[in-house]
Amino acid sequence: MSANPFAEGAAYVKGRFVPFAEASIPVTDWGFTRSDAVYDVVHVFQGGFFRLDDHLDRFARAMERRRLAPPEDRAAIEAVLHRCVALSGLQDAYVAMVASRGKPKVAGSRRPADCENHLIAYAIPWIDVIPKDVQERGAHLWLASTPRVPDASVDPTVKNYQWSDLTSGLMEAHDEGYDTAVLCDAAGYVTEGPGFNIFMVKDGRVLTPDRGSLQGITRRSVLELCEQLGIPAEVAPITRAEFEDADEIFAATTAGGVMPVSRLGKRIMGNDRPGPLSLQLKDTYWRRHAEGWHRTPVRPLEDMA
Ligand code: PLP
Repeated sequence: MSANPFAEGAAYVKGRFVPFAEASIPVTDWGFTRSDAVYDVVHVFQGGFFRLDDHLDRFARAMERRRLAPPEDRAAIEAVLHRCVALSGLQDAYVAMVASRGKPKVAGSRRPADCENHLIAYAIPWIDVIPKDVQERGAHLWLASTPRVPDASVDPTVKNYQWSDLTSGLMEAHDEGYDTAVLCDAAGYVTEGPGFNIFMVKDGRVLTPDRGSLQGITRRSVLELCEQLGIPAEVAPITRAEFEDADEIFAATTAGGVMPVSRLGKRIMGNDRPGPLSLQLKDTYWRRHAEGWHRTPVRPLEDMA
């Protein structure tokens, strides 16, 4: 057992830093009762945040879109994230920031504007949304029958907790013996999966959906790497039929990086192993991390006020 009470993670709730296991919100918080919250997740790799400014930018935009305004400004949010990681002592971490609607200041009010918005943040040990051993063999992906919620109803570019469709897809996948799922929209275009963007490779070209998806920071990193490596890449509409005919597929997310897929439904791709382009992008993504790409070192506790 570590003597550090924050070793399992450190959280910030209502202006206080607490051990992760002690972080809680009231059951009446609209963030819980209505999924009325936006969030973002950045990772820390070997003591440095990856693309911290990009995550803070996306979080700020999401808060603005949902009219959420916790008392902490951007600099304060950034300082909270640094402190959560520094308190935990973690070198590799999953770091979340959440803006919740909170509770109405006026008892019984149904008006969002009456609520006291608040910031929650936490740093916990590294998470892979697809476990590392599954990434090694290539994930088995299920094309869900549940359609993705329409973009006009829930904006997928605003990172949110309204996961009913994604969770249904995940349950379908698990019922069928697959690792995870990808959802199409009602018109039959591929969107994304529970916690990741999806990519396909066809004839040496890398494609990722133009709809129904978060504008992932890992997705942006993959597109940058493709440009640097001279691999043609595009954000484009992808039909279910085109996806089913892919040469390679991989998923991309902050919590796992570039994660190759080896099976799509009953179809076994390549030789039932991660494809060569997927592996090249995965290896380059992690090598560039080790070289300090887009890195912000975590501030030591002693340097904080
Ligand atoms: N899509 C969804 C629904 C997600 O929840 C996530 C990340 O959690 C992603 C895509 C990937 O985004 P990013 O690369 O910014 O982590």
